[in-house]
Amino acid sequence: MTVLFWDIDGTLLTTARAGVFAWDDAVREVTGRDFELAQIRIAGLTDYQIAVKTFESMGIEADEALLHRMVDRYGELLPASLPRRTGRVLPNVREILEHLRDRSDVRSYLLTGNTRAGAQAKLTHYDLLHFFPDGAFAEDAGERSAIAARALELVRRAHADVADDKVFVIGDTPHDIHCANAIGARTIAVATGGYRIDELRAHDPWRVFEELPPPCDFARLVA
Ligand SMILES: [Mg+2]
Repeated sequence: MTVLFWDIDGTLLTTARAGVFAWDDAVREVTGRDFELAQIRIAGLTDYQIAVKTFESMGIEADEALLHRMVDRYGELLPASLPRRTGRVLPNVREILEHLRDRSDVRSYLLTGNTRAGAQAKLTHYDLLHFFPDGAFAEDAGERSAIAARALELVRRAHADVADDKVFVIGDTPHDIHCANAIGARTIAVATGGYRIDELRAHDPWRVFEELPPPCDFARLVA
C-alpha cells in the first residue's frame, strides 16, 4: 500500500490568498482592532501558528482559548471569503488524483496546517474534497510534525499493509519536508507555492519539481 499525504495551500490549490479576508475579519471581531495579515509571511505555518504570530504582532497575550476562538471564527468566515478571489487547482493535481482514484494500492490523505473546517472549506470550493477520505489537521499551536505523526497513526489504523518506503508527503514548503522527515516519509516538493525550487532543494527533499508531473509520471514515481 502506497500512502500519499497531501498539503493543501500551494500544493493542491491556491486560494489567491482569499483566506486573508476571513482572517482579517475574524481578528477584528475577536480583538476589536484592525489587522492586516499581508504583513506576515505565513507559507507553511499552521492556522494556530498564524494566530500566535498575529497576536504577537499586535502585542496581545493569547491563551489557548483565545487562539481557538480566533481560528474557529476564521473557519466559519472562510467559505464566504473564498469566492472573493479567483484561485485555482494547481497543475496536474486533479488529473493525478483522478488517475490514482481507482488504484486499490494507493491512498491519498490530507496532511495540512489548516484546521479540519478550513481544509473542508477550501477543498469544497475547488471540488477536491471527494478525493480524500480523511486526513490530519492542525488542532493546536504545536509543531507541524505532530500533525504528521497523527496522519501516520491514522493510516496505520486504516490499513495494515502500509510499507515504510511507500509513504510520501507532497508539499510546497520546507515545513512539509521537515514534517515528512519526522515520520520517515519521502517528500515530493513542488515549487507552486511560497518557495522557489532552489530554496526547497536546500532542505533535501526526496524529489523536487517546478510543478507536479503528469499523472503517469507521478504514478511511476510513487507506486
Ligand atoms: Mg503549503
